[in-house]
Amino acid sequence: MNMKRVIISALVVLLILATLAAAPARQAGRSPAGHVVAIRCGRLIDGKSDAPITNAVILIEGERITAIGASVLIPPGAEVIDLSNATVLPGLIDCHTHLLQNYDGALGNDDPNMILTVTQMSTAKRALLGAAMGREDLEAGITAVRDLGNSGYNGDVALRDAIYEGWVVGPRIVASTRALAAAGGQFGEVSAATQKIIEQEYAVISGTEEARRAVRQAFYDGADLIKVIVNTGPRVVSLEEMKVIVEEAHRVNRKVAAHAIGDQATRIAAEAGVDSIEHAYTVPDDVLKMMAEKKIFLVPTDGPVETYLDIFVTAKHPSPEELEQARANIGRFLKGSRDRLARAVKAGVRIAAGSDMYYQLPGKTRGQASLTMLRAYAESGMTPMQIIQAATLNAAELLGAQKRLGSLETGKVADIIAVVDDPLKDIAALEHVQFVMKGGKLIKNELRK
Ligand SMILES: [Zn+2]
Repeated sequence: MNMKRVIISALVVLLILATLAAAPARQAGRSPAGHVVAIRCGRLIDGKSDAPITNAVILIEGERITAIGASVLIPPGAEVIDLSNATVLPGLIDCHTHLLQNYDGALGNDDPNMILTVTQMSTAKRALLGAAMGREDLEAGITAVRDLGNSGYNGDVALRDAIYEGWVVGPRIVASTRALAAAGGQFGEVSAATQKIIEQEYAVISGTEEARRAVRQAFYDGADLIKVIVNTGPRVVSLEEMKVIVEEAHRVNRKVAAHAIGDQATRIAAEAGVDSIEHAYTVPDDVLKMMAEKKIFLVPTDGPVETYLDIFVTAKHPSPEELEQARANIGRFLKGSRDRLARAVKAGVRIAAGSDMYYQLPGKTRGQASLTMLRAYAESGMTPMQIIQAATLNAAELLGAQKRLGSLETGKVADIIAVVDDPLKDIAALEHVQFVMKGGKLIKNELRK
């Protein structure tokens, strides 16, 4: 190597180091280093402790929490945010969302909506839709999400990166790119000539080598984790295929989220050793036991009756009789979900909150609509503190981000929300978040006096 090349190489290294050092400050206009923000908390639910702490103070420098607790003193010159009339919590995490979809229940259920979305919207357009949905999530207090597919070809990866760069404002995203699935993905009936559209939305696999290739392709495409649709009607991914998927992902310390419903699919997912089982509206007790033993999270994508009525019924202007009939039908379905979540908690399965919200809800932003899931968890008998932990600390662990997110502790990222009403009395208080901070940057504060 001649001298000139050595000098150029050294300069390049210095330039990279300088860029890396400047990166955090450049991102999203954070306060400069040395500037201290102090939050006075009336009550603090830190995500870890079993009981709230009164009159705590959080000190923040840059994007990190530098001190927290009831005995922390506010240093002179600090910028003080007064939340002494509110309850302060870690930012909420939605472990199952689809920001690049916004279905309209008036058009029907998933089948027509999926076809219209995939055929009429480019991935670029869907990423911009995702930017709007993401902003609505963040402003509602959801500071991080796992986006589990239905994002066109890598649209979720583009959105994740755009938010990280500070081009658009939104939650932290852990992205899956296209979900792996058996033939047809989750499409309803599509004629042979139009089946090409399936590839835009799903990576179809058949056999272990295709499964292996699809996982590697997903990582090449920018996936943080792998999403698998284990079953759609009679199309089921086999145990052998699932094992290969888990092996490939775990080899590089990435997680696998499995959409699975019913005895067979939940069993295949649990036996293969996935990290989370999504939905599991029906699941046998012995599978729950296996999930508890293997520390597989259940992500119960549930909602209250009102959410389903709002999506599918209200827009059709039903008669009072039709409305009551629909309420009864939905109630019957939900009873099964409530029961399985109660059984899961009793079996010791860890719960991570996930909304699976991808429909428009009249009068609600995407974030507000997503957080109605918390009421459904309460209806299953989970305590408010269990629900908060499912949407913070447990969720952060499922994201693989428990060192940075999920609780308010010294050294963690300052993703902080606040509410006036008491979420330990009524979890629905979290549907009205009035203060949001992400990475030390103020997103909104409706509690300013
Ligand atoms: Zn989903």
